[in-house]
Amino acid sequence: MLHITTGAERRLLLLAWVILILMVAAVNVPLAISKTRSRTAPPLPTTLQLRGADAADRSWPSTTPHADPWPEIEYWQVTRAFGYRHYDARVTRQSPDSNGFTMDVVHLGWPLPVIEHKQMWWDWDNAAFSGPEPDPAPRLLLRGLIGNPLIVGTAVFVVLCLGPYALILLRRLWRARGGDCVWCGYQLKGVSPCPECGREAK
Ligand SMILES: [Zn+2]
Repeated sequence: MLHITTGAERRLLLLAWVILILMVAAVNVPLAISKTRSRTAPPLPTTLQLRGADAADRSWPSTTPHADPWPEIEYWQVTRAFGYRHYDARVTRQSPDSNGFTMDVVHLGWPLPVIEHKQMWWDWDNAAFSGPEPDPAPRLLLRGLIGNPLIVGTAVFVVLCLGPYALILLRRLWRARGGDCVWCGYQLKGVSPCPECGREAK
């Protein structure tokens, strides 16, 4: 087995990876908060609108609040921007005094949502759907809270650390193939340890 890495290098890489994940974790929630859009801001163009069977294929953009499932969606739309997704899903009202079902959800965060703002409408008077709060407090989403640092931290780690390190390893492999010292490139001619850098040539 050819040894072309050192324990110190491997530890340094691991440390860099952990630090990058922690750095992304530190900006994850502030970035999500910064994506909050004011209701008075000019509206973004709708990204996708679905009706009928296409809408029914979609699931409610967040958990429904009752033990009984909500009916199939009849109208579904999403507006997307960087770090921002706004879902509007509805089942139209059956009569003028009915609310139907509506879920208005804003997800903030990138690449996965970190913060959820949710508002819901249903027939408040329907005993089968009584109980929970239709305007729950904003909540943090675990998938974005944990996923974003892992995804972004690892991507940055691969580009900034693993890529350059792979080039270094390739050079060492190349030296080993030519019979040179893996660490400094000195022409060994079968001598070990290396007379130039003093390291074991394996
Ligand atoms: Zn050497």
